[in-house]
Amino acid sequence: MPNLTRDFFIGLSNNKLLNKSAKKWGFRLGAEKFVAGTTIESVTETVKELNSDGISCTLDRLGEFVFEKEEAIEAKEESINLLEKIHAEDIDCHVSVKLTQMGLDIDQQFCIENMQEILHVADQYNIFVNIDMEDYAHYQQTLDVLHILRKDYENVGTVIQSYLLRTEADLNQLKGVRLRLVKGAYKESEEVAYQDKAEIDRNFIMIAKKRLLGDTFTSIATHDHHIINQLKNFIRENNIDKDTYEFQMLYGFRNEMQYGLAEEGYNFCTYIPFGTDWFGYFMRRMAERPQNINLVVKDTFYTKDGKFKKKPIIAGVVAGGLLLVLVGWKTR
Ligand SMILES: Cc1cc2nc3c(=O)[nH]c(=O)nc-3n(C[C@H](O)[C@H](O)[C@H](O)COP(=O)(O)OP(=O)(O)OC[C@H]3O[C@@H](n4cnc5c(N)ncnc54)[C@H](O)[C@@H]3O)c2cc1C
Repeated sequence: MPNLTRDFFIGLSNNKLLNKSAKKWGFRLGAEKFVAGTTIESVTETVKELNSDGISCTLDRLGEFVFEKEEAIEAKEESINLLEKIHAEDIDCHVSVKLTQMGLDIDQQFCIENMQEILHVADQYNIFVNIDMEDYAHYQQTLDVLHILRKDYENVGTVIQSYLLRTEADLNQLKGVRLRLVKGAYKESEEVAYQDKAEIDRNFIMIAKKRLLGDTFTSIATHDHHIINQLKNFIRENNIDKDTYEFQMLYGFRNEMQYGLAEEGYNFCTYIPFGTDWFGYFMRRMAERPQNINLVVKDTFYTKDGKFKKKPIIAGVVAGGLLLVLVGWKTR
């Protein structure tokens, strides 16, 4: 059953029409729980608050399904504006980008040139840029682009996904590259990815340990307390230098753990998505953890003091529709 729910939300996340429509609906469906705002200004305030509690951040201006050059150029320019803002405000923050947003599906060379412009500015300000890993269809191209970019820039890294069968083998060619380790958020076939949670977790821990014993910086990105606790023990037992790794979690998830790890003295970084293109990201978060639906329904239908909202807004209608479809789907 959880797989059906997961497939349902992954299906929604890939629906281009819903993604485009969501931009027009505005910031709805309870998305503000997991997406920090729509503008650079508002998200900068969020970063400042987290920085004041000892937490660094990575900012992701959301954007998917970019098939027009104008859209990719706008995304590049917005990323450069973001770098300018981070520098001007002197906040503890780096940037995460997706290559499809920078035009990978249009033309690889065009995407590389957009990334080079971004990295040139980031390099001047000494800001790190991480390339998010997308679905397997873009995996090899992402690694190829990364290797080309790293010929001129060292301030760029990427993400490895423990659900992929080939990740361990690929680690060798990523020696010396700052990486974020995640489990993997997309639906992939058994030809390329582990399907069993236990295997994905085992691979995550094995890769994390290998990286921790190496000397290149690794972001351990998970909300899984079982994994975090195991790795904390490993770090202690092996006396790993705390400046060679950090823990990362997504904005809006397990806040008490985020602050707790920072208070314990671990380097901690919150991944903060923002922007109007929130739908695909938001649906992938629903896919990962169906309990998130409860939070969203509560926010959509109830006021903060627990009273039912009398005037249902479009968000309520849409959320209700989605839930009905989900119930129908589950009981088929
Ligand atoms: C900072 C960051 C960046 C990411 N970047 C990428 C990327 O570039 N590409 C990509 O494919 N994926 C990315 N992901 C998503 C990632 O691949 C996973 O899909 C996602 O993190 C869910 O897996 P998990 O490791 O958090 O734990 P899960 O496997 O979802 O959860 C494991 C266990 O942890 C506990 N748990 C988890 N969440 C909660 C919660 N909210 N409250 C209470 N208990 C909880 C539960 O016991 C659960 O069973 C990123 C994730 C993070 C955190």
